[in-house]
Amino acid sequence: MQTDRVLIIHTGGTIGMLPTEQGLAPAAGFEQLLRQRLAERLDTLPAFDLLELDPLIDSAELSPRQWNSIAAPVIERYGDYAGFIVLHGTDTLAYTASALSFMLQGLAKPVILTGSQIPLAERRSDADSNLLGALELAVRPEINEVCIYFNGRLLRGNRSVKMDASALSAFESPNLAPLGEVGIAISLRTDLMLAPGKPSFSSPEFDPAAVAVIRLFPGISATLIQAVLSQPGLGGVILQSYGVGNAPTSDAALMETLESAIAQGTTVVNLTQCSRGAVAGDTYATGAALSRIGVISGADLTLEAAFAKLHWLLAKKLSAAEVAMQMRQPLCGEKQAS
Ligand code: ASP
Repeated sequence: MQTDRVLIIHTGGTIGMLPTEQGLAPAAGFEQLLRQRLAERLDTLPAFDLLELDPLIDSAELSPRQWNSIAAPVIERYGDYAGFIVLHGTDTLAYTASALSFMLQGLAKPVILTGSQIPLAERRSDADSNLLGALELAVRPEINEVCIYFNGRLLRGNRSVKMDASALSAFESPNLAPLGEVGIAISLRTDLMLAPGKPSFSSPEFDPAAVAVIRLFPGISATLIQAVLSQPGLGGVILQSYGVGNAPTSDAALMETLESAIAQGTTVVNLTQCSRGAVAGDTYATGAALSRIGVISGADLTLEAAFAKLHWLLAKKLSAAEVAMQMRQPLCGEKQAS
C-alpha cells in the first residue's frame, strides 16, 4: 500500500444523500458519483480509497456506539495511509470529531472530518469544495490531529460546534482560532497545532445511557434534575449553567439533589450556556457553591467535547476520582490549561 494515499470513510450525511418522497436520505453509489464529479481533477489530487459504513446514516441518528465503528478503520489501517477523511452529516459532526480526538490520541497524521450542507448530487453544492480542501489537507504532514474542514476553514475537532443550521459556513471553534484557512493559498497555524505523537488509541465500548445533559432554565426544579439523574446506567452529567458558571444555588433541594448524586459517584461537569467563553470557577457565589459540592468546572470546553470526553472516560471504566482528574486536564487540546 502506498502511503501517500488517503482513506475516505463515508458515514452518511447530506453530502451523499438523494431526495426521496420522505425528504433527503442516505443513498448508495456515492463513490461513483464522487469519482465522476472529480474526474477532471483526479490526476492532480491525492489518490484515495473509499470505505462506506453500513448502514449509511443521517447523523441525527448517531449514537455513541457508532463512534467505535468510525474509529475502527483509522485504527486498523493507520499505517496504510497518509491521512484520513471522515465524511459525516453535519448535525452531530462536532460530537464525532470530539469523540475521535479522545479515541485517537497521539496521531502523527491528519484525520479530517467534513460533510456538506447541500448534497454532492445537486448542481450547486458545497460538497465539492469541502471534499477538495479535505483531500489536500489530509496529506499535509503538519496536521497531527482530528480536525474539521468546512467552508475554507480548518478547525480543531474538539473545539468545534455547528453554529449555523443553514449557512455554508456551518462550523466555528468559538474559543480557539482556526488552525488553517484555505483560500488562494493554504495557510496553516502550525503554532496552534498539536505536535506529532505516538499512537495511543483507545476505542472502549460506549454506553449511550452513561452521559446526560441538563440545561438550566429559570424555574428548573430539583424533581426534573432528579429524573435525569435516576436514569439507569448514568455516570456523568453536564450541567449547562448561566454565564461564567452560575446556577440557582439558593434552591436547597436542587443543591441536595446534585450533591447526593456526586456523593454516589456521578460526575457533574459545569459548562456555560454561552456560545463563547468559559466557566470561571468562583467569580460569583452562585458558581462557587457548585464547586463546593464537587461539581467540576469544564472551563472552556464545548458541550460536544465535554460530552464526548465524559463518555470516553466513563467507557474506560475509570474511578470517579480519575474521571474528575482527567476532566480537569487538557488531554488533546480540547480546553485551556487551568
Ligand atoms: N441531517 C444531516 C446529517 O447530519 C445534515 C447534514 O449532513 O448536513 O446527517
